[in-house]
Amino acid sequence: MLKKLFQSFRPPVRGPHHKRTTPEVINSGQHSLQRGQFSRHAVGIVERLQNAGYQAYLVGGCVRDQLLGITPKDFDVATSATPEQVRAEFRNARIIGRRFKLVHIHFGRDIIEVATFRANHSETEEDSHTSSRNESGRILRDNVYGTLEEDAQRRDFTINALYYDPVSERILDYANGVHDIRNRLIRLIGDPTQRYQEDPVRMLRAVRFAAKLNFGIEKHTVQPIRELASMLREIPSARLFEETLKLFLSGHAAITFEMLVDLQLFEPLFPASSEALEDNPTYTHTLISQALINTDLRIKQGKPVTPAFLFAALLWPALPLRALRLQSRGMPPIPAVQEAAHELIAEQCQRIAIPKRFTIPIREIWDMQERLPRRSGKRADQLLDNPRFRAGYDFLLLRESAGEETEGLGQWWTDYQDCNDSQRRDMIRELGGRDEGGAGPRKRKRSPNKRKRADNAADE
Ligand code: ATP
Ligand code: MG
Repeated sequence: MLKKLFQSFRPPVRGPHHKRTTPEVINSGQHSLQRGQFSRHAVGIVERLQNAGYQAYLVGGCVRDQLLGITPKDFDVATSATPEQVRAEFRNARIIGRRFKLVHIHFGRDIIEVATFRANHSETEEDSHTSSRNESGRILRDNVYGTLEEDAQRRDFTINALYYDPVSERILDYANGVHDIRNRLIRLIGDPTQRYQEDPVRMLRAVRFAAKLNFGIEKHTVQPIRELASMLREIPSARLFEETLKLFLSGHAAITFEMLVDLQLFEPLFPASSEALEDNPTYTHTLISQALINTDLRIKQGKPVTPAFLFAALLWPALPLRALRLQSRGMPPIPAVQEAAHELIAEQCQRIAIPKRFTIPIREIWDMQERLPRRSGKRADQLLDNPRFRAGYDFLLLRESAGEETEGLGQWWTDYQDCNDSQRRDMIRELGGRDEGGAGPRKRKRSPNKRKRADNAADE
């Protein structure tokens, strides 16, 4: 699977892809798109803008996805009209954004985003010295309006730079995007290293689209990633939170995870989990993969998924090592687990700004793991009434599926939920004194020399 994703082809056209100034025009009949497939609101906006004398096209994800037979998430319009000119044409239009103005045109709950053509500054010596990163972590080069050609060149991947005119039903292709769609390849427009340096998040977008579309990443596009991966540390944590959700809630999280690890992009996103992956590879890999496979399945089935459960799973394997380090400094086991959880989340939030509405349930899911083994008296029934019980129980099953030894605790809880009251009382009685242990994540058995490494680390 991975091999297939990273297969590479020789570029179809000799010479730099990004210098193309006249587009390849693909007429209706030479491609599979039809106007009727697109949102009628978006098509209406394009017609209206063209009638007012502006250039206007459907662009980006919606053209790419329709060519691949995928239902687009949203429909974006690109135009030569400025935001003010767009607003003047539509009563239901609102300008949003300060630095990069966009127009949102509202049709009830449906919103169509209209963006004015933008350009990259030409890169001069002076630019490269004075360019700075804005609040989203991008280099400030694409904040000026431009021509259609320039708008195509500043986009990230060739497959995202296709413009569809629903009036003439023609596609304009400035970057050989149609070729790359046919060959199922993710290819950056322009020089890959430079494009990643401008905006390191493009490395994550390459992985996201490869996983979502089941495409390979073209050789030159994949080549610089491992070397540049650490640039993700410069990206604001709020933007990385958004990107991480897109990566793991796309319905293709399991393969996305494999690619992130392989391309060394997982480390800058989840440093502690990445350490756990080295320290305890089989367990960590199994637990995270299993959580992501479950997430993908739930999305396929249209069931809700909570980012809290996802982050709880991504971080859980990093807990034992931390708790152990605190213990080796003299902290008793239970406070050590609590403190480790607190530190781990605080550190993770430096990289990825997980909002409080998710960090609180992460802690609750973890705390539940310490409580699930204690079932005597009324405790089991109290736990069942806890609003986090379901997530806590699912998390226990996840830990077991990754090989954690819990002495059949998951099965016990499965049975308990199925029982009537008197059967439940019997189950509690049968427990006798067996419900004491099992606090927090267990330290897995480790080989002697790994143990030594962990102890050394704790002594530092
Ligand atoms: P989807 O919405 O299905 O995830 P999309 O291609 O529509 O995919 P968006 O993030 O909505 O992706 O961006 C819309 C378009 O804007 C892209 O198709 C691409 O042309 C351009 N774009 C987005 N982010 C970047 C970026 N970081 N660098 C360059 N171009 C970008
Ligand atoms: Mg989109």
